Amino acid sequence: MEQMLNLRHLLQHEVEDLSSAEDQIIEALPQMIEMASSPELKKALNEHLKVTREQKKRLEKVQQSLTRGGAEENGTGKSFFERIFGGGTKCKGMEGLIKEGQKMMGEDMDAQVRDAAIIASCQKIEHYEISGYGTARAYANQLNLVEVERLLQTTLNEEYKADDLLTILALQKVNVDAEGGKKNRKAGNSNPDNSKKKSPVKKAVSKKTASKKKAPAKAAAKKAKTRS
Ligand code: FE
Ligand code: FE
Ligand code: ZN
Repeated sequence: MEQMLNLRHLLQHEVEDLSSAEDQIIEALPQMIEMASSPELKKALNEHLKVTREQKKRLEKVQQSLTRGGAEENGTGKSFFERIFGGGTKCKGMEGLIKEGQKMMGEDMDAQVRDAAIIASCQKIEHYEISGYGTARAYANQLNLVEVERLLQTTLNEEYKADDLLTILALQKVNVDAEGGKKNRKAGNSNPDNSKKKSPVKKAVSKKTASKKKAPAKAAAKKAKTRS
């Protein structure tokens, strides 16, 4: 009879799921970069593609460490879920998020509006990752797997950073331009009222500084660290 699932198995499964998620992101990001028109957004996504490749390598280290540590447990060098399901966990959550984003990007819209849609899609992806890495990190902490926890925390911090950067980009520029694009088209691109255009920028900036004071990501990360 197969053994019962324990916390270590859940951790292995979460790590496999994240590994598949990162693979899918590495595959999907180039198209998003191509379809983005804001140079700042292109740059941010390009940076995150590089970071994501490193995250994938980091997960391989985690998997090696888990397999090494658990080798005496099953003697096969394969993870529990790999033995049950024959390997190749595909993260359906990430598959769905990416498909949804691609569908939206393919709709007919102004380039500036598409940028806003791309950010929305990327932030859903980031939040999914933050959830997965947060859970895995908490399991590793509970299991006293110090090195695994450190590796997962490093990536979790990067995902928070990417998410925060996208929020700032959206509030300061992309959402503002997306709204302006619609107005410009209605006014035949003449845009006679420049004073009106400035107010949402100011609003976005003050919103940004307000959220910076609270540093929600950092506070949440700290909080999560003490949770299991
Ligand atoms: Fe990632
Ligand atoms: Fe998943
Ligand atoms: Zn990410």
